[in-house]
Amino acid sequence: MGIVHFVGAGPGAADLITLRGAQLLSQADVVLYDALTDPALRELAPNARWIDVGKRGFRDGSTGQAAIDALLVQHARESAVVVRLKGGDPGVFGRLEEELEALAAAGIACSVVPGITAALAAAASTRRPLTRRGSGRSVALTTAMTRSGALRASRGADTEVFYMAGQQLDALARRLLDAGWRPETPASVVSRAGWPDALHSDHDIATLERAAVMHAGRPTVVTVGAGARPVETGPHEPAAITRTGPVPAAKP
Ligand code: SAH
Repeated sequence: MGIVHFVGAGPGAADLITLRGAQLLSQADVVLYDALTDPALRELAPNARWIDVGKRGFRDGSTGQAAIDALLVQHARESAVVVRLKGGDPGVFGRLEEELEALAAAGIACSVVPGITAALAAAASTRRPLTRRGSGRSVALTTAMTRSGALRASRGADTEVFYMAGQQLDALARRLLDAGWRPETPASVVSRAGWPDALHSDHDIATLERAAVMHAGRPTVVTVGAGARPVETGPHEPAAITRTGPVPAAKP
């Protein structure tokens, strides 16, 4: 019977994994990974068997999750070291609970290694602290999607970072206004944070839907409130991130 290490891969570039995560990868016999992780991470475990569980068939619904749970248990029984590699942090919108429960039910030992979650990568790449002295005392990581697929927004913290909202920015903006946010509240949108081709655009809630075209089809987080406000740091914008001002309205 082996052990399963849940390892957070971070948001993108392979060098954003932790040293502990990299070391466990190098010991792995089997790696079960999701679509969001960087293929360059494979070099950290060249001799392991890599199994893509981010594919269609695994991705959707409870059937897919049950299949992943079963694979984890099966490989932990057959191999000494199994790494379950997840994008960002395993415990942030990563279905970690189900997988931990499946392993516990099978009596299999496990550990969890944290990773840099998308909200933190987006904040770092735009050089915006998520907490601010005086105005930003709390941060919420929120999914815009509910189990039923309905979109929800709230105002539970001074800074809210929305995951999985990229497809529905207009609906998110409406829900945010319904939840009591002011239309002029800053909203910072970052897609593929932590990757060399990260994109960033600044908006306010009233014009948030204008981000849709620029970030279409890319993993995107939307930061709203105190932590979305730019910090004036001078003209040192790193080349890796494209910065646009408020995106102008499309011509009628
Ligand atoms: N466990 C992951 C989140 C998985 S849910 C983490 O901690 O980051 C998937 C959602 O995460 C995407 O819909 C998107 O909202 C966000 N996401 C993941 N990687 C991202 C990235 N590199 N840049 C921006 N958003 C990202």
